[in-house]
Amino acid sequence: MIIAVLGGAGYIGSHAVDQLIKKGYEVVVIDNLLTGHKEAVHEKARFYEGDIRDKVFMQSVFSKEKIEGVVHFSASSLVGESVEQPLKYFNNNVYGTQITLEVMKEFDVKYIVFSSTAATYGEPEDIPILETAKTLPKSPYGESKLMMEKMLYWCDVAYGIKSVALRYFNVAGAQLEAKIGEDHTPESHLVPIILQTALGQRKEITVFGDDYDTPDGTCIRDYVHVVDLCDAHILALEYLKAHNQSNVFNLGSSEGFSVKEMIDVARQVTEKEIPEKIGERRAGDPAVLVASSEKAQKVLGWQPQHTNVKTIMETAWKWHSTHPKGYDSK
Ligand code: UDP
Repeated sequence: MIIAVLGGAGYIGSHAVDQLIKKGYEVVVIDNLLTGHKEAVHEKARFYEGDIRDKVFMQSVFSKEKIEGVVHFSASSLVGESVEQPLKYFNNNVYGTQITLEVMKEFDVKYIVFSSTAATYGEPEDIPILETAKTLPKSPYGESKLMMEKMLYWCDVAYGIKSVALRYFNVAGAQLEAKIGEDHTPESHLVPIILQTALGQRKEITVFGDDYDTPDGTCIRDYVHVVDLCDAHILALEYLKAHNQSNVFNLGSSEGFSVKEMIDVARQVTEKEIPEKIGERRAGDPAVLVASSEKAQKVLGWQPQHTNVKTIMETAWKWHSTHPKGYDSK
């Protein structure tokens, strides 16, 4: 089966490509390399550099390759930036998906697995969060992902394009061999920032608020290992083929860790001091986000293997300590 991975040169996309190839899929990577890295593109994947918003480019790829399914990671994903530049998010995320769906319809591609997000829920009423919870995003990023989910729904109704939307919680860690990993410029995510501090690349880590209604006052998040998360994408493709039915699933570990706990885990793993200071709250941060992933486990048969947060930190550390400048380390 030939799968097109949109955003296959990015952090999560490159891990998904690696796992799809290990499972015997043929993979076509489409990436504009704005945030992705050429070095992250798997040597066995056929790589097309271009933008998913460029319909002529997309048509040329889909006419060359017999694509049977799409896994869609191509999106801007920074909550804070999206509040300042909402149109960037509607253009890249929503319009990019529009073109993708138009081309899928034209070339009769029926399956799409899509990266959605916990940010579609906004401030949750109940923890753990079920897929049936209200979706009231607090940022244009979350809103754009919810709009994309709705586009998929209506394209199923009208054209029979079947989709699985996977709502990610906090994705972290790296491939166990650590040949690929997380490399964003600028970096905004907690785990890489903690590890850059451990490497001495940052003087300290700023904890965004310690006055939340949580046991230690810092925000609690649900960290899921990137390899487990990507396994769920392969299961989602298998689900689409077997059931020809659209669905939505949360992907998390169902366990919450505070920012302070994550810094402590990193201190144990790296054996570095990792100075921290308390800063202001970051706009749009809910106090607690923890998923119920029961549905993915029951329906997709998802069995996450690297649920220990120490393993997540160890694999991330293996990548960061061997690639202190990310893909520019060589
Ligand atoms: N965070 C922090 N300092 C940082 C980066 C993140 O305290 O330098 C906190 C952030 O406020 C949130 C948690 O770490 O509570 C996870 O943030 P991240 O940006 O990694 O993921 P998000 O929860 O926004 O998807």
